[in-house]
Amino acid sequence: MAEALPRIAIVGAGLLGRLLAFQLRADAQITLFDQDSGAAEQSAAYLAAAMLAPLAESAESSHGIMALGEESLKLWPKILQQLHEPVFFQQQGSLLVAFEQDRACLTQLQRNLKGDNYQRVDKAQIHALEPEINSRFQQGLFLPDEGQLDNRELLRVLATSLRKYASIDWHCHAKAEIQAQRLVVNGKVLQGFDWIVDCRGLGAKAQQSDLRGVRGEVLRLYAPQVTLQRPLRLMHPRYPLYIAPKANHHFVVGATQLESEDARQPTVRSTLELLSACFSVHSGFAEAEIQYNQSGLRPAYVDNEPQMRVSGKVISLNGLYRHGYLLSPVMVDLCRNYLLGNRLNPLYLQQIPTILQESAPEILEFA
Ligand SMILES: Cc1cc2nc3c(=O)[nH]c(=O)nc-3n(C[C@H](O)[C@H](O)[C@H](O)COP(=O)(O)OP(=O)(O)OC[C@H]3O[C@@H](n4cnc5c(N)ncnc54)[C@H](O)[C@@H]3O)c2cc1C
Repeated sequence: MAEALPRIAIVGAGLLGRLLAFQLRADAQITLFDQDSGAAEQSAAYLAAAMLAPLAESAESSHGIMALGEESLKLWPKILQQLHEPVFFQQQGSLLVAFEQDRACLTQLQRNLKGDNYQRVDKAQIHALEPEINSRFQQGLFLPDEGQLDNRELLRVLATSLRKYASIDWHCHAKAEIQAQRLVVNGKVLQGFDWIVDCRGLGAKAQQSDLRGVRGEVLRLYAPQVTLQRPLRLMHPRYPLYIAPKANHHFVVGATQLESEDARQPTVRSTLELLSACFSVHSGFAEAEIQYNQSGLRPAYVDNEPQMRVSGKVISLNGLYRHGYLLSPVMVDLCRNYLLGNRLNPLYLQQIPTILQESAPEILEFA
């Protein structure tokens, strides 16, 4: 007789939760819970620019993040191929530019890069790469391997794909807590799962006191007069700004990065900064339609590195910070293999030794 598949509860159907469910679709009976309607509208993933930029990010993150980001970039096309509809994915590099007054920011970023797969580009080369942008840019860096995808398209297509599998049972408007090895959904204790995987992002903060939110504000524009070939980063003294062109003249512009858990809508100051950056890069943005202007919180641990924490039958995947799209294929691969008792990819543990944390389960205290 065939062995019964493991029963796995995945709590949180944002980026990690739905990707993990998809990758486990043939290996387990999955019950997916999310507090939202199924559109991921309460997730950080819904707001992200979904830049896949391991080298550019390495200026402010570890070598391990870069290495695992490069690994994820190889995994994304394979994952996308298995989905039931196409998702916008591009790997045409990214271009980093600075106006003269911010030249030092570009030099500093270049010094901090942890890899060398980039080219310094001058005015003529910038023009060849991006013919439409402001001709005042005198210098830049071209990172040829970087990529991006469309976050909202991915979340929607993952949802459509997940709903096609009998092995996946998805509960929306299901607010869940995990209390000492117990899963409580909308106030009711649910039993019978072999594993509970916590993918609640910042929603897990009540149980994980070392988790924090890092505020980001982001805009989506529709600018029919603007064509960019690839994501463009504009050096800025406060934070790196990017303009990520998605399909059909849609652009995600972001993101501010503020050490704050303020969940209010974007401020005037940040919006002005983002929009004036766009206009300074390409005057065609003046006529763009603002499709949304939103803020969100990136879930992060103190070192801004991701972790898979295992305690008894509860696994938490969290802390993806500004690297959710960059790292989720690797985190999901790590978790899937752990759940199935397969060999773990040693590269993950070598590159980020803290990525896997195993501890004894909490003891359930009875009053
Ligand atoms: C402005 C901004 C820009 C970003 N840009 C990029 C980028 O360019 N590249 C990149 O790689 N990453 C980027 N990120 C980061 C990325 O979005 C996050 O790292 C990623 O979404 C984290 O995934 P997650 O699944 O852990 O959490 P989330 O995507 O936040 O999903 C968590 C899910 O859990 C659900 N949930 C929470 N609490 C409960 C509960 N109690 N019960 C049931 N469900 C619950 C939520 O509704 C949500 O659906 C950006 C983030 C922001 C905010």
